Parts: sequence; structure tokens; C-alpha cells
Amino acid sequence: MTTATEAAAGVRGGLLVHGDWPATEATFDVTDPATGTVIARVADATVEQGLAALDSIVAAAPGWAATTLRDRAELLRRAFDAVMARRAEFAHLISAEMGKPLAEARAEVDYGAEFLRWYSEEAARPKGEYRRSPDGGSRLLVSRRPVGPCLLITPWNFPLAMATRKIAAALAAGCTAIVKPAPQTPLTTIKFAELLLEVGLPPGVLNVVTTLDAAGVCGALLADGRIRKLSFTGSTAVGRLLIAQCGPKVVRPSMELGGNAPFIVDADADIGRAVDGAMVAKMRNMGEACTAANRFLVHRDVAEEFGALLTGRMAALTVGPGLDPASQVGPVIDEAARQRLGALVEDAIEAGARLRTGGRALDGPGTFFQPTVLTEVPPGARMSREEIFGPVVGITVFDELDEAVRLANDTEYGLVAYLYSGNAERALRYAERLDFGMVAINRALVSNAAAPFGGIKQSGLGREGGREGIDDYLDLQYVAIDA
Ligand code: NAD
Repeated sequence: MTTATEAAAGVRGGLLVHGDWPATEATFDVTDPATGTVIARVADATVEQGLAALDSIVAAAPGWAATTLRDRAELLRRAFDAVMARRAEFAHLISAEMGKPLAEARAEVDYGAEFLRWYSEEAARPKGEYRRSPDGGSRLLVSRRPVGPCLLITPWNFPLAMATRKIAAALAAGCTAIVKPAPQTPLTTIKFAELLLEVGLPPGVLNVVTTLDAAGVCGALLADGRIRKLSFTGSTAVGRLLIAQCGPKVVRPSMELGGNAPFIVDADADIGRAVDGAMVAKMRNMGEACTAANRFLVHRDVAEEFGALLTGRMAALTVGPGLDPASQVGPVIDEAARQRLGALVEDAIEAGARLRTGGRALDGPGTFFQPTVLTEVPPGARMSREEIFGPVVGITVFDELDEAVRLANDTEYGLVAYLYSGNAERALRYAERLDFGMVAINRALVSNAAAPFGGIKQSGLGREGGREGIDDYLDLQYVAIDA
């Protein structure tokens, strides 16, 4: 078995500015959540170093915007091929710093690389229009141009995919960018940026700023006025702060924020299929996904069967270090996350829920938490209102699908909803009443590079992926012609 230290060996120090990797006075530790071992020390950039990275992407912006669409497309395609050629290396590194099992890390590499392929294809297909004005007095040309230097801030849960989803679209659109990875998982982003340089990305088109002072550095970048676009994936609380910081210089914000996904199982659903789906919608990434099923709403007629089957499946999972090929569930990201899970479970039990399996932290090194199932969770319990972000299932019973939809919509979040039903027409009718940016019918996975991923309400602004994802990095220009 590869150790986390071996997987992290040879990754650069962190800060990337204009093709160089300057040293910083301070560094911070990256640890393996399965053992608590320090696996790397990474540059802790200051505000001044962040601003130097900004000078560089501003200097590189006109040159990159002037590259041909075909050149950008081919560079992204080379990046896709290079990531896939190093799939195993990336998977081990993701698993080492984030903790997910290797099989999940491989799936993330495939998913993350797909954005490079998708946007290599989109890069060469610009949208534009030629219109006549209704009064016949002029012609209207509508074209798109890169929005300018971007700041991309990513979370720790998908260290590669959350970076490529933003970087591929920004580069395809002709924008230069600074990426600021999460301090828990900076190594994958650093390795990916190095790979982009190797496949020919010019210096300054993408810089990496690793820092523990996210608020100070990102605040200074947004206040400077030269960043024209912010794309953020992370918690709703930080997203709200950043939207406010975009105000003074009118920076365009794109936000992929938290979720509180309902997973609805109607009385006529195929229960075997719904349980398979529940395992994916809950346990992908050990529940540490914004799309993770958070509230299981199950029709009374099938609740006992569904709960018993799901409990059996959860109890049978093998918990262990992600780098051990036998592990199906890795550690959660850190001790704070693990304590939060324990508190959510206790709160639900106090509120009247019944513990069916798990419920506790596991002894030993590493931040492991038992796969857990609770039934009879009241809608008022904390785990029904907050993002659980871990391997914990809470099941609530309903009697009518209308009631399930009302419960599902009773949240400030609106990222994704799952609906299992035996009747396609009825499912489609109800899908339209679910206030979510994405709805999955009899399916547990919505993430797809070809689809517009994103939420409504307090789950976000804008979309990533699909044909729509590049629009966030483009400004419209209308040219009037007197003809
Ligand atoms: P987080 O909000 O704590 O951190 C996200 C990023 O923001 C990190 O890089 C962090 O360093 C940075 N950050 C923190 N404070 C900042 C500040 N004041 N200014 C600038 N940057 C700051 O979130 P997290 O714990 O890393 O990730 C988990 C959250 O991300 C969950 O809520 C999850 O739902 C969400 N998420 C959403 C999506 C989506 O597509 N909607 C995808 C993955 C994760």
C-alpha cells in the first residue's frame, strides 16, 4: 500500500507566480486525515505575494485573450490527456490529502479531467449573433469576450474536480486566473498547475496562491479592482461574505454553495433501486459532497423496508484509510468535522430519532466516523436543517407526496433533489415543483461535465459545466452597424 507521504512526495511548494515557484517566509502543514501525519509543507502566501500574483495574471491577460480558439482548445485537450496518463498519481495524491478511498479518488480524476475535455471542445465553438433591428435601421452584432482576470476559490472535498471545473472554463473563455485552493488539500491543485505549464500554458495565465490567510489575501484581491470575476465553491456562510466583497468594484460573482438535498422515496418506487441510489447519493465522497443526500423522506408504506435494507448496507461498509484498497469509507476531513457529526447524531436522538447503526467516532489515529443510520428523524432536528457533510443517514417518514415536496422545499438551500418513483409522469410533474437547481429522477448522480451544475436560493449563483458554464467567464459585446 502506498503511504500518504509517498503519494505527496515531489509536489512543489505551493505559490506559483508567472511560471516560478517563489519561496515564502511562512509555510503551513498538510496532513493525512487517516493518520494525522504531516505529508507536506506548503507556502503560506502574504497579501503582498497575492498581489504579485495578480500583477502577473493582469500582465498575461491580453496575450491569452488574443490566442486562437483552436490553440486554447488544443492546450486543454493536451491537459486532459496528461491528467489521464497520470490518473494513478493524481488519485493517490487526492486520497492522501483528502482521505477518500482510492476508487472514489480515481472517479474524481475521471470527472475532473472531463471538464478539460469538455471545455477543449467548447472553446472552439464560440456563440455569436447577427440580428436586424426591428425598425430595419441597423444591424446588431452580438459577440462575447473574456471577462478578464479571475479569482477562483475552491473547497477541500474534490481537490481536482472543483479546480478543473473552474480553470477549464476560464481558460477556454480566454481569461487568466488565480486559483486559491483550500488549505487542507492544496497539493492536487499545485500538481495540476504544474502539469498545465508542462503542456504549454504560458506563464501568468494561471497562478496558484496557497495561504492560511484566505480572508486577507482574497479580500485584498477583490478590493484591488483588477479582478473582474470571482468564482467560489464552498460554504454558504463564506459565499455571503464574498458576494458582499464583490460589491465595491462590481466584480461578477459565481457561487457554488452548500446544499441540503432531499432524497424522496415514493410508495411505488423500486426499493432495491432506491437503496442502491441512496448508497451513492449519501456515500459518494463519504457524504462530504454538496450534492450529498441530506434528508431521506420516505413514504410510510415502504419506510421500514427501505430503512432496514439501507441499515444493512451501511453497517457492512469497510472503514479505513483511503489509500488501503480494501477501504470503502475513509476518514472525514478533520476533528472539527467529526465532532460536528457526533453532535448532529446526539441532537437527532434527543429529538426522538432512533439509532439503527453506527453513531460514533472510531478510536485510533485518523478522523474516522462510523457509517450511521437514524430513522424517525423529526424535520426540526439539526441534521434536517443543516448540511451533515459526513456518512450519516437520517430518515423521515411522509404520507403524501405533496407533504414530501413541502418538506423538501422547506430550506434556504436549493442545490439538488432526488426523487424515486415508479411513475415517470408523476415524477416529472413533482420534479417541477421542487425548488432546486437540479433534480435527479430514479438516479443518484447529477455531476456531469456536460450539464449545467448549480443551485438556486442560497445554494448559489451561476452554473458550472455544460454549454452554460463558459458564459460566466464571458462578457457580451453588442456592436451597432448603420446598415
Ligand atoms: P469553506 O467555505 O470553509 O471554504 C471554501 C474555500 O474558501 C477554501 O478555499 C477556504 O480557504 C476559502 N475561504 C474561507 N474563508 C474565506 C474568506 N473569508 N475569504 C475568501 N476565501 C475564504 O468550505 P469548505 O469547508 O472548504 O467546503 C465545504 C463546503 O463547500 C460545503 O458547504 C459544501 O456544500 C460546499 N461545496 C459546494 C459545492 C457546489 O458545487 N455547490 C461543491 C463542493 C463543496
